[in-house]
Formats: sequence, C-alpha cells, structure tokens
Amino acid sequence: MVPNEDRLKTYLTIDQVKDLFIYVGQRVIDSKPLLTTIDGAIGDGDHGIGMEVGFKKAIEVIKTSNMTTINSIFFEIGKAMISNMGGASGVLFGTLFVASAKDKPSINKLNLEQLASFLHSGLEGVKARGKAELGDKTMIDALEPATIALNEAFQKNEDLVAALKSASEKAQEGMENTRNLIAKFGRAKSLGERAIGHQDAGATTISIMFEAIYTFVNELQNKGELQHE
Ligand code: ADP
Ligand code: MG
Repeated sequence: MVPNEDRLKTYLTIDQVKDLFIYVGQRVIDSKPLLTTIDGAIGDGDHGIGMEVGFKKAIEVIKTSNMTTINSIFFEIGKAMISNMGGASGVLFGTLFVASAKDKPSINKLNLEQLASFLHSGLEGVKARGKAELGDKTMIDALEPATIALNEAFQKNEDLVAALKSASEKAQEGMENTRNLIAKFGRAKSLGERAIGHQDAGATTISIMFEAIYTFVNELQNKGELQHE
C-alpha cells in the first residue's frame, strides 16, 4: 500500500498530457455518428460534426506546436475549438479548456490536485458563459458531477486512476439522467416535454471524454508508465 502523500504525487508529464488529449479527441471524433444522431433527435444534428472539427484542429495544434506548459496545452485546445467549431458548443467546449488554465500558475506536470482544480475552473467558466445549471439538460449535467467526483476523490486522498474512474462513472450517470429532463437551453428548449426520453448531445460528449481520460490513464498505469514524484 502506497502512503497517501505519495499516491497524491502521481502525475502525467507534458508529453503524456498531449497524448492524452490526442486520444480523447480521437475518441470523440470516432463518436461523430452517435453524437450527430443524438443531436438530431432534439437538436439540429450537427453536434458530432462540430466536435470533430474542433478536436481535429486541437489535435493538429498539439502535434505541431511546441507547448512547454500544461496550461498552454489546455489553452491552445480551447482556442482551436472556439475559433474553428462554431455553434453553441464551439464556445462552450472551448471555454471549458481555456477557463481551466486561466489565472493558474504555470505547471509542467499534471497531478490529481491540479487536474481537479483545472476542471473546477473550467466548469465555472462554462456556467458563467452559458448560464446553464445542473438539471437544465446540457453538458453541465455530466460535467458538474464528474468535476465534483474528482475534487472529492482528491479530498479523500484517492489515487489518480481511482479518481478518474469515479469521475467517468458520474459523467455517465449524469449523461443518462439528461433523458429525464426538459431542456432550458439550446435548441431542445423549444420542444418542452417532447425532449424527455432523449439524452443530451453535449452531456454525451463530456461522458465520452471522461471515459477516454480514465481509459488512457489506467492504461499508462498498467504499462507502468505513470510518473510519481
Ligand atoms: P448547437 O446547439 O449550436 O447546434 P451543438 O449541437 O454543437 O450546438 O451543441 C449542443 C449542445 O451544447 C447541447 O447538447 C448542450 O449540451 C450544449 N449547450 C447548449 N447550450 C448550452 C448552455 N447554455 N450551457 C451549457 N451547454 C449548452
Ligand atoms: Mg446542434
């Protein structure tokens, strides 16, 4: 059993964070047909297309620019989304990444405490920008429970992989719960009760992202490639 203080010092290197988001982006891109079908039921059917454009651009930037801080990776991914995606989600998913890194001291490794703190700021940024709260049938319904789970796991001294597993489970739960909700934002708003039974597209993307983050980091752990301070 590793002592708590040591477990908290598990971290990802810059290159691992770059590979992580290339993997996450690819997983979202691969989900394009699903996301487009889901958005088609209660939206305009473009969510998968937008996410593909955003993550393709983000992956290109990750691969071609010489980023030396974790902060700049988050910032550049967000910027790529905001300037290329369009739609409500371009600004909102872009803001998630940009707000995560905003006003944070520069870091060149990423541990659970920092990831939890980044996501907390990202969530607050999306809420400030889009004004949606929990229960409004948006991406917030997956993002908020996942972010809370990650922060609670840190408070409880859980290790990085266990924390990501609970965050991923909470995101999925939140995504599934959007089926029962009436939309207060976005295109599904005008459908009222008719949106019930359909899950939200943005919440689905968030769930896919957290599942991918967990899978990638768990794999690093299995390969013995996770770093410890
Ligand atoms: P658009 O609605 O412009 O077609 P997308 O289809 O790409 O954009 O994205 C729709 C998703 O954006 C929704 O499923 C929802 O999760 C999210 N969304 C829409 N409005 C908001 C908002 N105000 N706050 C948070 N998320 C929102
Ligand atoms: Mg749409």
